[in-house]
Amino acid sequence: MTRGHGRSMRELIESGEKSFSFEFFPPKDEAGEERLWRAITELEPYRPTFVSVTYGAGGSSRDTTVRITGRIARETSLTPVAHLTCVGHSRAELADVLDAYRDAGVAHILALRGDPPEGPRAAWVGTEDGLEYASDLVAFIKEHYDAAVGVAAFPEGHVDAESLEADALVLKAKQDAGAEFAVTEMVLRASDYFGLVERARALGVDMPIIPGIMPILNLGSMNRMVELSGREMPDEVRSRIEPLAEDPAGLRAEGIRISTELCDALLAGGAPGLHFYTLNFSRATREIFEGLQITV
Ligand SMILES: Cc1cc2nc3c(=O)[nH]c(=O)nc-3n(C[C@H](O)[C@H](O)[C@H](O)COP(=O)(O)OP(=O)(O)OC[C@H]3O[C@@H](n4cnc5c(N)ncnc54)[C@H](O)[C@@H]3O)c2cc1C
Repeated sequence: MTRGHGRSMRELIESGEKSFSFEFFPPKDEAGEERLWRAITELEPYRPTFVSVTYGAGGSSRDTTVRITGRIARETSLTPVAHLTCVGHSRAELADVLDAYRDAGVAHILALRGDPPEGPRAAWVGTEDGLEYASDLVAFIKEHYDAAVGVAAFPEGHVDAESLEADALVLKAKQDAGAEFAVTEMVLRASDYFGLVERARALGVDMPIIPGIMPILNLGSMNRMVELSGREMPDEVRSRIEPLAEDPAGLRAEGIRISTELCDALLAGGAPGLHFYTLNFSRATREIFEGLQITV
C-alpha cells in the first residue's frame, strides 16, 4: 500500500517539491499520548510526505509503536513510516513485528540496527538468530515483505564507523539491499550534510538522503544529544546560544533562528527536503516553517 496516487516513497520525495516529514516517539503514558496526537493533528495540515515513529528497546514501547503507526494509517491522511531495529529480536520476532505492521496497514519501514537498551553509546550485543547490521534488516524485509524501506545516514559518520569512507560504504550496502531513501541523524552544519551526500554519490548511492533537523530549544538537552551522538556542537552554534544560557526565552528564539537558517541552507544547497525530530511537540517545527525563506 503506497499512498500519493500509487507513487513510491522515493518518487514522492523526489517529486520536485521539497519533502517534509516529522518524527515522533512512542509515548509512555496517557498524557504523553494526548500530547502526541495533538502534535500530529497540528502538523497534519502541512501535508508531510510521511511521519515516522521510533522503535524503542522495551516491549511495551515497541507495542505502542505498532499501535500508533496503525492508528495513523487508519485514522489520518498521513503516511506512517514505522521504525524497526535489530536490538534484542530474533528473525522470527522481527517477522512477527513486520506481520503486525503489515496487518495494521503500515507499508513503510525505517530499518535500523538500533540503540542498545543501555543507550546509544553502549556496546552492541547481537541476539541469537538475530541480525547484525541494518543492511541485513533491509534485505530481510525486502525478501519477505512488500514494504518500502528507508535507512539511517550520518552527516559526520556513525560514531563507531572506522572512517567517513567506511561509513559511506555502509550506506551503499543499505541501498544495495533494497533501501529507497535515507534520513540523517540531526545535522549540526549544512556542510557536513553536503559532504555525506558527495561521498555517497561518488559510491553510486542515488537514493534521496533527507537531512534530519532537531530544533535547538534548550542548551542542556541539546548538549546531551550532541554528546550522545559522539560529536561536538559547532563553534558557530555554541557562540550564539551559550551567552543566552540564563535567558531561556532568548535562547529558544535564537535556537529557532539557527535551525531555520540551517534548513534554508540545506534546501538551497539541494537537499530534497527536511525531516523534523519533533519530540512529540509541533510548535518549534511550525515556527521554523513560518521562518523559511524557501517557499514550501
Ligand atoms: C533517522 C534515524 C532514526 C533512528 N531511529 C531509531 C529508532 O527508532 N530506534 C533506535 O533504537 N535507534 C534509532 N536510531 C539510532 C540508530 O539505531 C543508531 O545510530 C545505530 O547505532 C546505528 O544504526 P544503523 O541503522 O545506521 O546501523 P548499521 O548500519 O548497522 O551501523 C551500525 C554500525 O556498524 C557499522 N557497520 C554497518 N554495516 C557494517 C558491515 N557490513 N561491516 C562492518 N561494519 C558495519 C556502521 O559503520 C556503524 O558503525 C535512529 C538513527 C537515525 C539517524
